[in-house]
Amino acid sequence: MFHTLRSKLLVFFILIAFVPMLVVGFISYTAQKQEMTNHAEKSLSMQSSNIAADISRFLEERVNDAEYLSRNPVMMNPSSSLLDIRDQMYYFLDIHTIYYDTYLIDDEGIVIGDTENEVVGHDLSDRPWFSQAMEGKTFMSDIYYSTILDEPVLVIAAPVYDRRQNVTGVISPSFNLESLEDMLEGYASEQQETGWGGYAFLLNEEGTVISHPEEEHILELNYFDEQGVTKKSIDQVVDDREITKMIDGEVHSFSKIESFPEFHHEWYVGVSVEESELYASLNNLLMKYIISYGVILLFLLFAVYRLSAYLVQPVQQLVETTRNFASGGGHDRKYVNAYEEVNHLNATFDHMTRQLEQRENSHKKSTMVLEATDNGVLAIDRNTKRITLFNRMCEEVFQRDKNYVIGTTVDEVMTYSKPFASFVKSGDIDHLLETMEDSCQFEMECQCDGELRTYFLSVSNLPTMEEEPTKKEMLIVFYDLTEKRQMERELLRSEKLKVVGEMSAGFAHEIRNPLTTIKGFIQLFKERSSEENQKHYPLVIEEIDRVNKIMNELLNIANPNPKEEKTTANVERILKDIILLQESQMKKNHIDLETFFQGDIPDMEVNVNKLKQVFINLIQNGIEAMPDGGRMNIRTRLEDGYSPSEQRVVIQIQDTGIGMNSSTMEKLGTPFFTTKETGTGLGITTSYRVIEEMDGTINVSSETNQGTSFTISIPVKVLESVQ
Ligand code: ADP
Ligand code: MG
Repeated sequence: MFHTLRSKLLVFFILIAFVPMLVVGFISYTAQKQEMTNHAEKSLSMQSSNIAADISRFLEERVNDAEYLSRNPVMMNPSSSLLDIRDQMYYFLDIHTIYYDTYLIDDEGIVIGDTENEVVGHDLSDRPWFSQAMEGKTFMSDIYYSTILDEPVLVIAAPVYDRRQNVTGVISPSFNLESLEDMLEGYASEQQETGWGGYAFLLNEEGTVISHPEEEHILELNYFDEQGVTKKSIDQVVDDREITKMIDGEVHSFSKIESFPEFHHEWYVGVSVEESELYASLNNLLMKYIISYGVILLFLLFAVYRLSAYLVQPVQQLVETTRNFASGGGHDRKYVNAYEEVNHLNATFDHMTRQLEQRENSHKKSTMVLEATDNGVLAIDRNTKRITLFNRMCEEVFQRDKNYVIGTTVDEVMTYSKPFASFVKSGDIDHLLETMEDSCQFEMECQCDGELRTYFLSVSNLPTMEEEPTKKEMLIVFYDLTEKRQMERELLRSEKLKVVGEMSAGFAHEIRNPLTTIKGFIQLFKERSSEENQKHYPLVIEEIDRVNKIMNELLNIANPNPKEEKTTANVERILKDIILLQESQMKKNHIDLETFFQGDIPDMEVNVNKLKQVFINLIQNGIEAMPDGGRMNIRTRLEDGYSPSEQRVVIQIQDTGIGMNSSTMEKLGTPFFTTKETGTGLGITTSYRVIEEMDGTINVSSETNQGTSFTISIPVKVLESVQ
């Protein structure tokens, strides 16, 4: 239940706010309670002591009254008549209305005067108060039950002296005990006004109730026995000014009535108040505390509830968004503007999710590319030889689902995929896994599904995310070249066939022409005389020579032994020799020749006759392209490469002749291709062949009616022995 942030916050806040408040409240309540209890108890005991003082004063007054009466001169005069004395007694009763009767007892103990006239003549000499009074001491009895009067009484006896201070008798005024009870009741009614109920009562030293609002208790009830206390414990209560808690929910407080010389009894004034009334204010206080604390708690709960919501809501929202994002539900980015920390957190989360999305997108893209490509992509861990990447193309080629392959070793896959086994063996992948340092590319053939297939493999180390480049995994990217190679082979074959066809046609044409001529002559020879024939023999020989020439040129192209006849020569020297031979023809054709020779071209190893043939062919073609004269430029230069071994000799033969159109340019080099009536169409073919043999190149540029330029470039090959 308390696992959520919100419940924790709630509990925490309530603890830190409410518990101290409760403690403070409790302390203040107990302090106030103590004070109020003290106050209540003190005022209770104060009341009892006040009553005690009142009663004590009351009793003293009664003693004084008796002594006052006893000192009446009429009383003191032994010669006073009984009548006068009685007058004085009545007079006393008139003044002191509290009294209802007065006895005068002579020194024998016989009642000689009684205002009520009821007990005159009674002998009271056995009464203790009588003997006490006769000794000269005013005496006050306890309250006791008078059998004569049949009611509780309190007797006051004061000695009557004569002029010589001899005790002549005893005077005993009887007062109404109800006045004592009235005093106690007066207290009770006072109490009613203050809010406390209760009553007051009197106990003597034996615990007998001597005055009580309920008259039936008087002299009938023993408080000590009733409440199970002793005089000692009550004395203790009086001394400590405590209150005693008695049963029946009443609280009793006691005070002792002070004794004085005429009063030797130990009387206690008891004040009784209902406990609930005494502590009523205390209960009110408790109620007030409970209500105010309840209100504060409610308010606090509400405030804490709101505060925890304020704190927790943005976090909950973030949790919700994160959960949604994690389960692939996207990221809707709707946040409540909360406090700064959470706003920062939201911004960071946004940034993070955006980056994650981007990363995921690019990852998806690369996975898609990997799956869509027609290249097989395969990665192998070099340590464990386990396959870590196997794309769709691999699945097709090796006929295995990638889910079965990824994580298994190369050897395992080889056991159940024959194409894969053949692939690994042909590509020597095992060896590469162990030894390969850098990347490498190669073409290989392997047996796949019963047919021989050609693959181009690019093998490299798989780059890792780590800073240090590792060679942990090897990446093989391969693609199928089988079709391409097949097409190339077919193209080559058809190309060859075409060339053979063209050659055969040209060859047939070239050979058939002289043969037809020779055949014609031979038929003529049969019909004509040998003299006439004689004239035509040279023509026949010429045609046979032509056939021979064609055969020689064809042999040149075939060139069964290219390394033969190689000698060290100078290219410029060879050119100059040729030019010398051709000069007369050029002059005849009105051709101006200009030569630009480099001059320091090194001697090199060449087949002199073949190179001469190339130069003759090209110069001859140039002359033939300028029937109406023109200009011929022959240039040589040495081109430097990166090293002396890469030096090249460049020879350019340029004319201002008829030039060539694009279709002629296209067919240039094809055997027997010629645009001339008596041409063989083998000159350019032969030249290309010779220069190719020398690892050189021929470039042609030509424009119709502007001229043609042939540029030959041959690497300088120098024999060390020659140098
Ligand atoms: P032939 O000279 O016997 O015709 P070649 O092989 O020497 O055979 O030349 C083939 C063809 O190339 C020529 O018939 C001609 O049309 C063209 N040709 C070669 N050289 C030139 C050139 N310098 N100017 C114009 N056409 C040329
Ligand atoms: Mg030619």
